[in-house]
Amino acid sequence: MSATTPPEKMMFQLTLRRRGISDQAVLRAMEEVPRESFVEQTDRADAYCDTALGIACGQTISQPFVVAYMTEQLKLQKRHRVLEIGTGSGYQAAVLSRLAGHVVTMERFRTLADGARRRLEDLGYHNIEVMLGDGFAVPEQLGPFDRIIVTAAMAQIPDELMQRLEPEGILIAPVGPPHGVQTLVRIVRTETGFDRKELVDVRFVPALPGVAKEL
Ligand code: SAH
Repeated sequence: MSATTPPEKMMFQLTLRRRGISDQAVLRAMEEVPRESFVEQTDRADAYCDTALGIACGQTISQPFVVAYMTEQLKLQKRHRVLEIGTGSGYQAAVLSRLAGHVVTMERFRTLADGARRRLEDLGYHNIEVMLGDGFAVPEQLGPFDRIIVTAAMAQIPDELMQRLEPEGILIAPVGPPHGVQTLVRIVRTETGFDRKELVDVRFVPALPGVAKEL
């Protein structure tokens, strides 16, 4: 941050630190990505408040703390290929792209996928591929991933998704009832199987099967 950093962005960083985000690279990525470009025009004044906000198709852009927390838990490196399920506005994908090598992000609403693709291109984030598709049926040819992040609530983590992890890969997903409180679960692929750890309570919009029929 510099002398010209606007006060709301200073507060934004302070809030993330106070809530326990300590990874400098994650804090830098959160500082770099302009959240105001990912929210609705009418919400721009609130872009740096630590709250989720509504976007098109009845979906939400996640709360910044949760974006930073999930990103920190992924322990990203520049060589990593990352899969995100639930593009929404594209904000989480943008943050991931600052720390990983390549991000594939999948969204079931065409309106959101097209909007996010355009926005990310305009901002010059060239290592992100936005795909229209169903995160419950990720095409085989996309191959395995070093990291997988699910940003919509799932009743349980599908085994097929866990099988897409590289050895020592990490997956993080909100698990629980679709319209209640979920628990963020972290899965690590080990030599013998999968380690599972429950982290914090969160609230995400539900993951729904299939590409949306409406736009
Ligand atoms: N990560 C987003 C917020 C995600 S909101 C951001 O940074 O803005 C959850 C998103 O997941 C919604 O856009 C919803 O349409 C999408 N989604 C739900 N089920 C899905 C599925 N099966 N496949 C792909 N996307 C899905």
